[in-house]
Amino acid sequence: MARFEPAALPELLPVFYRRLFPHGAYGRWLGYGGVVKNYFQLREFSFTLRDDVYVRFQSFGSPQELERELHRTNPYKIDIGAVYSHRPNQHNTVHLGAFQPQEKELVFDIDMTDYDDVRTCCSSADICSKCWTLMTIAVRIIDRALVEDLGLKHRLWVYSGRRGVHCWVCDDAVRKWSPALRAATVEYLSLVKGGAETVKKVTLSEPIHPFIRRSVSVVEKYFESYALVGQDILGSPESWAKVLALVPEDIREALQAEFPKKRDSVHRWELLRGRMERTRKQAAAGKGAPCFADWEVMLQFCFPRLDINVSKGVGHLLKSPFSVHPKTGRISVPLDLQKLDQFDPFSVPTISSLCHELDAAGAAEEQEDGAGMEPEPEPKRRARGYKRTSLAPYVRLFELFVEDMERARRGELLRRSDLQGDF
Ligand SMILES: [Zn+2]
Repeated sequence: MARFEPAALPELLPVFYRRLFPHGAYGRWLGYGGVVKNYFQLREFSFTLRDDVYVRFQSFGSPQELERELHRTNPYKIDIGAVYSHRPNQHNTVHLGAFQPQEKELVFDIDMTDYDDVRTCCSSADICSKCWTLMTIAVRIIDRALVEDLGLKHRLWVYSGRRGVHCWVCDDAVRKWSPALRAATVEYLSLVKGGAETVKKVTLSEPIHPFIRRSVSVVEKYFESYALVGQDILGSPESWAKVLALVPEDIREALQAEFPKKRDSVHRWELLRGRMERTRKQAAAGKGAPCFADWEVMLQFCFPRLDINVSKGVGHLLKSPFSVHPKTGRISVPLDLQKLDQFDPFSVPTISSLCHELDAAGAAEEQEDGAGMEPEPEPKRRARGYKRTSLAPYVRLFELFVEDMERARRGELLRRSDLQGDF
């Protein structure tokens, strides 16, 4: 695979925007069916250009105009902002205070750096296949809650290109949500509280909310292989001290005495969990108080950490799907939730690997053409370049997401016209 060198971006980006970026589906997504007039025109885009030149408040008359601008400026990174009261590129001409963000997708930004207190394999910007499981768990927990608890439908999950994931919730009603409603949603989805100085960040008491119960059962699926085997959180006295600090004192002492006799993290966890389950059984029979320290440990070590400011602010910018990550060269590709457990961030195509694949496909085709095949007209071949690269399945996922929204929109229109017919 062609190694990515940031220095090659000026050469690679024009190829990327001409032949690989899925302009068609992208424009259909952000146009939202043209139901609201000028919706696309009022959307803020921000570009990061060469030498970290950052331009905010870009806006375009149509997806085609955006495409032309991308061809012209070849941004290193694209961010998407809100839909404003006035065209963002004319915000200077509007009366002060009148220019306001009005709508945006509800977005979530989950970043591996926020898990540094519970990862032992890597820290800060580094990730590996072991800790990536934390992102898998985060997507599973948040997505389940969005669908089952909040009744939301159109979610696009995207790999950020480096060490995290983003979610774009695109339902019509949600895009109109106020900052207060967005903050309340993040609050509902947050269980891990407190900063570096807080030892115990999850405290549960009865009655246990169904959201917590369901989140625990998601974590349970991954906990043994991720936390007990992968991170080995009960592997040594130093590491189990961190876990036992979250357990009530009377049980802690007993476990501390027993842990050295057990073979490994898995067996030590069995012991700890057994103790907690016993308190719950006894409590159910009317003896003593139930203890949920096993659940609290599982949640503190695995529950998603959300960046509230990104989700709350309607005007907040977030890196666009299919933007390049300027440091890793990886494309922000949609995640297939059906195959989430198999997703490997290190196998996501980079801009260099894709351009390399294009070259290879082109060379193979030229040989075929030479053998008497009728070549496709040039512009058509260019526009669908991604189809001959490993970007194709990701573009297909994105198209399916957009098509799903379009189908829902048509259904809604039909329903409304039926209703009108009844009156
Ligand atoms: Zn790691």
